[in-house]
Amino acid sequence: MSEYDLVIIGAGPGGLTAGLYAARARMNVLLIEKAAPGGQVLVTDWIENYPGFPEGISGFDLAEKIKDQALTLGLDIETAEVQGLDLSGKIKEVILKEKRIQTKSVIIASGASPRKLGVGEDKFMGKGVSFCGTCDGPFFKDKVVVAVGGGDTAIQESIFLTRFAKKVYIVHRRDELRATKILQERAFANDKIEFIWDSVVTGMDGFFSVEKVNVKNLKTGDASEIEANGCFIWIGILPNTEFIKGAVKTDESGFILVDTQMQTNVPGVFAIGDVRDTPLRQIATAVGDGAVAAFCAEHYVENL
Ligand SMILES: Cc1cc2nc3c(=O)[nH]c(=O)nc-3n(C[C@H](O)[C@H](O)[C@H](O)COP(=O)(O)OP(=O)(O)OC[C@H]3O[C@@H](n4cnc5c(N)ncnc54)[C@H](O)[C@@H]3O)c2cc1C
Repeated sequence: MSEYDLVIIGAGPGGLTAGLYAARARMNVLLIEKAAPGGQVLVTDWIENYPGFPEGISGFDLAEKIKDQALTLGLDIETAEVQGLDLSGKIKEVILKEKRIQTKSVIIASGASPRKLGVGEDKFMGKGVSFCGTCDGPFFKDKVVVAVGGGDTAIQESIFLTRFAKKVYIVHRRDELRATKILQERAFANDKIEFIWDSVVTGMDGFFSVEKVNVKNLKTGDASEIEANGCFIWIGILPNTEFIKGAVKTDESGFILVDTQMQTNVPGVFAIGDVRDTPLRQIATAVGDGAVAAFCAEHYVENL
């Protein structure tokens, strides 16, 4: 059984940055990732608000660059899903399916996943329902799609969908958008986008795949149907904390509470990026959290 100075859970931009800093500080560090390194950045088409790339950069390219830099600096990445944590002792245990890994400190960087509507969309998952324009947009060439949401992700991804779809209806529960003004301006100027304000999606129908999306106007109560081949859902995110099972304190929505050092209520256990309670969930913030947490984990281990 190996004992590490630091185990990082999740290889999104936050976890990779923490790993990069820890490896460079010559900590005995392991990063565990259940999928491909890159996290949500891998499903982002184009990123234009990450410093250092004035022309923008594709999510795939940025994820590859951060991963390559971490590997070059000596980070070890293991592919496995973390199933639990035992944080009761001074030496903590990260529980995988086949083994337990002992470590002096832990950084939880498991990110977040899209929130669902809960109107029966599971039946059409991969058959018209999607949470990722970058992954599935090309399947909707010359088709009609419905997008749900009014934040940055919903608007940015809807604009991306217009490269393929002939029409994108954006259903939003309010009469104004939360998205950044520059994205709003682009969406309002796009001929292929039509907004359906003050409305929610109440269900969807179809034989093999989505054929109709049911919509209800919250102000008038009127119900209507949109003939559409797809429904993209961007109504927020939920923290990936199933494996934590109460081992650290969270807010009422499940996001992990930390102090200014990114430390949770358990000494030596840190949480960063989208999985923590924070006002802004972006690549830049996850990366910043990762640097702080790795630095503080190093000091924690030194002082043990
Ligand atoms: C469509 C879309 C567009 C976006 N556009 C932008 C943008 O333009 N600019 C911007 O700054 N941000 C953007 N974001 C947000 C940004 O991608 C996230 O804020 C950022 O990726 C968060 O990084 P993270 O490291 O906290 O977590 P994540 O990127 O979510 O990575 C978490 C990782 O942990 C892994 N993991 C989870 N649970 C386990 C487990 N039990 N065991 C092992 N591994 C696990 C996951 O597989 C994942 O790889 C976008 C997000 C989406 C979805």
